[in-house]
Amino acid sequence: MPPIMAPFATIKCPSCGEAAKFAFATYQIFKKNDEEYFRKSKDFEVFRGQHSHGSFYHAALYYPGLGNSLENINDLPEDYKPNMWRHPYWYVTLPKELENTGSIRCSSCLIQRKHSLNWPNDAYFQITYKGKVLWAFDRKYTLKLLSYIESKERKKRIVGYSGKPWNTIYSQDWFLRHIPEHFQSAKARPEIVKKLKSILQM
Ligand SMILES: [Zn+2]
Repeated sequence: MPPIMAPFATIKCPSCGEAAKFAFATYQIFKKNDEEYFRKSKDFEVFRGQHSHGSFYHAALYYPGLGNSLENINDLPEDYKPNMWRHPYWYVTLPKELENTGSIRCSSCLIQRKHSLNWPNDAYFQITYKGKVLWAFDRKYTLKLLSYIESKERKKRIVGYSGKPWNTIYSQDWFLRHIPEHFQSAKARPEIVKKLKSILQM
């Protein structure tokens, strides 16, 4: 798993092999009093976790694409808003025990179910170059990757910064800043460009 993962990724559908959309689950710790609601709800799954200092907590897990969409959940107990289960701008904040937990939706074979992500093996947009795998989260990132590998300038920069380290806007640049050197030589360029274009069907 890369140190920062996008909340959504395009993966090879385990059922038909076409491109399917994976979304990480999101979770919220809830108060003991609200346990009954979350246990009964068809939109959430109760997860019992343990804090690093040892005490236990209960959290409500939400799987995007399964059950009701957040906009349509309107019976939450007081103090909860559907938005609490929305993904942050671009990173995933699941605890260690849940780090691969999410759901997939495939528009080819129409499966819709929970999926434990095996990244980068699951990546739909991946190529190999001299024994190593180069991957991208989805088509959009693959296009960014292609233009980066194709260009001779190889610009790497952070596109936005709000003043707080945890609010740095990494956008595609985080991704581009972490491409191993293995894929960045001038010699590697023609083969990688060709392979990327092929998976992009360009
Ligand atoms: Zn499928």
